Amino acid sequence: MSKVLIVGAGGVGGVVAHKCAQVPEVFSHITLASRTLARCEKIQREVRELQGRDIEVAQVDADDVAQTVALIRRVEPALVINVALPYQDLTLMDACLEAGVDYLDTANYEPPDEAKFEYKWQWAYQDRFRDAGRMALLGSGFDPGVTNVFCAYAAQHLFDRVRTIDILDCNGGDHGHPFATNFNPEINIREITQKGRYWERGEWVEIEPMSESRVFDFPGVGERKAYLLYHEELESLSRNIPGLERIRFWMTFGESYLKHLEVLQNVGMTRIDPVMFEGREIVPIKFLKALLPDPASLAENYTGKTSIGCLIEGEKDGKPKTVFIYNVCDHEETWREVRAQAVSYTTGVPAMVGAMMMLTGEWRGHGVFNMEQLDPVPFLEALGQHGLPWHVTAL
Ligand code: NDP
Repeated sequence: MSKVLIVGAGGVGGVVAHKCAQVPEVFSHITLASRTLARCEKIQREVRELQGRDIEVAQVDADDVAQTVALIRRVEPALVINVALPYQDLTLMDACLEAGVDYLDTANYEPPDEAKFEYKWQWAYQDRFRDAGRMALLGSGFDPGVTNVFCAYAAQHLFDRVRTIDILDCNGGDHGHPFATNFNPEINIREITQKGRYWERGEWVEIEPMSESRVFDFPGVGERKAYLLYHEELESLSRNIPGLERIRFWMTFGESYLKHLEVLQNVGMTRIDPVMFEGREIVPIKFLKALLPDPASLAENYTGKTSIGCLIEGEKDGKPKTVFIYNVCDHEETWREVRAQAVSYTTGVPAMVGAMMMLTGEWRGHGVFNMEQLDPVPFLEALGQHGLPWHVTAL
């Protein structure tokens, strides 16, 4: 029985609140806090309606450490689940250390003025968390998150040696808008418009943005074209999976999405540096975010499925072996269960399961951890039980 404080009331925050509410034996008391109180209150009403539980809500600016520490001291949670934006990771880690509680997030820190996804800022907290006897779990979403756990499971239970990993992420759904992003538009567009990068034999190989693509057959969806991108779990997995020779990340995009993105880029609307407009500074990508549909609002009419997994090659008992470990998630089903689309759902469920692992003591440790550093088995068991069944196909 534990108190938990969820920070961030967007698409993912809503799912985490619903899923924690479904497990009262672990999450005995839930507080949802965010910058805009009205969004917390909307989720509070939906959790009461769909899960029959009352959660607390609060307003907080998580960029402000003192304010966040005061909230943590008032709520007295055992764990803070950060599903605000990556920009808040460091201030929330500082607040957790000051208030003496554990920390979990789903996306690594990036500085607001530079699209650079690296763990270095958060790994730098290793000694402070260890010395304080506290645990920080990084990247407990789907990718990063479940994909890291799939890789750890394969390395420990399916292979003697893993040689290559390709993480394949497909959203085969349709939200009916000509252009929208499935999670925070600013974070999403920054991720896609940077150079592609993969890791091979100890070296990072950089390519032009979206310059390499391949068609994969995604279970539950069918054939889709996927593009090679840099994604943050490549950094930790390339260090933590022994014997690995290559790891890449691929994500599918529809033609309409890519066409819109190209135009927006060409006219400068995806810029992250401030420009002067009518006597004041604006950041074009922030303005664009204000115009695009709120990702949480896409959920109601979303159809189709997401299909995300890890294609892993290596050796078992002296023979070559290839497996695909994956989950398929249906947008309409997640709407019915928690009023969310599948991209938010596949992120929010692993955040809840990661929190459950920490609060029940299945995953314990002092310091900063990536998902693949912890025992994959209890996590995967709970993941299947709480809405994201996973499958292993031998190829
Ligand atoms: P949204 O933009 O929908 O929600 C973000 C929420 O954080 C909003 O409620 C926002 O408040 C709140 N917030 C922003 N700044 C602050 C602040 N300073 N203090 C308090 N609250 C703040 O994003 P999503 O729900 O789609 O995504 C949440 C996180 O999940 C992101 O970090 C994203 O990168 C990550 N993610 C991870 C994935 C994975 O698989 N690992 C996949 C998808 C997302 P307001 O309402 O006022 O704007």
